[in-house]
Amino acid sequence: MKNDKVDIAQYLNNPTKCSCGKTHFAGIKMVEISEGALDKVAAFVRDSGYERPFIVADCNTYEIAGKVVLDKLADHGISASSYVFADANLSPDEHALGTLLMNLDTTCDVVIAVGSGTINDLSRFFSFQVGLPYFIVATAPSMDGYASSVAPLLRNNLKTTFECHVPVAIFAELDILASAPVEMIAAGFGDVLGKYTCLADWQLSAIINDEYYCEWVASLTRHSLERTMKLSEGIARGDKEAIGELMETLILSGIAISYVGNSRPASGSEHHLAHFWEMQLLWGDKGHVLHGTNVGIGTILVLQLYQSLLHETLDPSSFQGIEAPHSENWTADIERVFLDGASEVLALEEVMGKNDLQKHQQRLGAIAEHWDQIREVLASVPSPAEARKLLEEVHAPYEPVHVGLERQWVYDALVYAKEIRARYTILQLLWDLNLLNDYAGRIVPEQ
Ligand SMILES: [Zn+2]
Ligand SMILES: [Zn+2]
Repeated sequence: MKNDKVDIAQYLNNPTKCSCGKTHFAGIKMVEISEGALDKVAAFVRDSGYERPFIVADCNTYEIAGKVVLDKLADHGISASSYVFADANLSPDEHALGTLLMNLDTTCDVVIAVGSGTINDLSRFFSFQVGLPYFIVATAPSMDGYASSVAPLLRNNLKTTFECHVPVAIFAELDILASAPVEMIAAGFGDVLGKYTCLADWQLSAIINDEYYCEWVASLTRHSLERTMKLSEGIARGDKEAIGELMETLILSGIAISYVGNSRPASGSEHHLAHFWEMQLLWGDKGHVLHGTNVGIGTILVLQLYQSLLHETLDPSSFQGIEAPHSENWTADIERVFLDGASEVLALEEVMGKNDLQKHQQRLGAIAEHWDQIREVLASVPSPAEARKLLEEVHAPYEPVHVGLERQWVYDALVYAKEIRARYTILQLLWDLNLLNDYAGRIVPEQ
C-alpha cells in the first residue's frame, strides 16, 4: 500500500513539460503535513527572509493553533501581529475584509492564515490585495481550497470567485487535523468523492466539445482520489496517517487546478449542485452546510444521473432530431430560482450561449458520433450505492434531507444548477438529449 503513496513535494515549484502541450506549474514552495509540523513554521519564516508576520485567525482556530504559532515565533525571536475574529462562523464578505484592512499592522511583511475554508479565502484575497505573500497553518482537512489560487467571497451577498495567488507554504499538524470535528473531516472526504464525477464530466466535454483535457493531471487526481477512498475506515476512526493522506489529496486537488489554470480537474456538476444550495441557504438565511458536505450529497445525485443515462436504450442515429428543451418562461424561471443572482445567470447565458439552438445541434452531432466513447465514461464512475456507502462509512450526510435541503431545491438544482457556470457536464448532456427534466422528476418524485 505504502509504495504507491503520492509524494507531494515533486509537484511543488517544479515546472513539468507535459504531452498535453502545457508546462504544468504550481508555485507553492513547501507542504508540511506531519506530527510536529508547527515546529517548522518559525524556521520557514526566518529562512524565507520574512521579519514580521500578520496572523489571521478566528477565536476557535486561534485556540487550536494560532497561539502555538505565536509562541513558537516568539521562541525564535520573531515578533508578530495578529487579528483574531471573535465570530467562528464568519462570512467571507466585505465586512470581514474591511475589518482585516482596519487592523492590519503595516509593518508586517507576510500573512499567516490559521484556519480552514473561510479564514483561508479571506487571507488569500486580503494578502493579494495588500501585496503581501501568505502561507497557511491548516486546522482541518475540510475542503480542497488550501492550494488554490482563487478565493470565493461574498460580494453584495453573491458568491463571486476572485483570482488571487497561491500560498507560499502549507503547514498541517497531524494531531490538529485528526482532532478536527467529525463533520469537517467528513466534508473533506465528500469534496474528494466529488472528483469521480468532475473528472468524468471533464472527459465528456473533451469528447463532445473538444475541450482541453490533460490525462496526466486527470490521472494524478484519480490516483489520489482512489487511495483516499480506500482509507475511509481509517479516516472514520480518526487514524492520523489516513487523515494526513486525506489532507494530501485535498492539497493535490488544488495543485491540479494550478496545473490546468482553471478548476476543471476539481469541480464539475456535483459542485454546481453544491454552489446552488450554498446560494439558496445564504439567501434564505437557512444556516450553513459545509461545502464538502454539499459536494458529497451532490455527487450521489450526479452518480444517479450517470447510471440512469448508462441504462437508457438510445439510438444515436435519432439524436440529430432532438429538440432543445424549450421553456416559454425561461427568464421568469431563472428569476424564480436564482432570486438575487438571476441577472448574473441571465447575463452569462447571453455571453456564453450554453443553450443556443445551433450549438445544441452541433453538440448532438458530436454526441451521436462518439456515443460509444461517452458510454464508456458513463460506465467508469462508481454506482450511487457504492458512493453512498463510502459517505456512510465516514459518518457524512448523504441525502439532501440529512442537512435540511428542501425537495424543491434538489429538483431546481438538478434542472438549473448548470446555468451557474458555462461548464459542460452531465447536466448539460442530459439537457442536450432532452432528458434532464425527466430525470430530475424521477430522482425527486412528487410526494
Ligand atoms: Zn498535461
Ligand atoms: Zn470543493
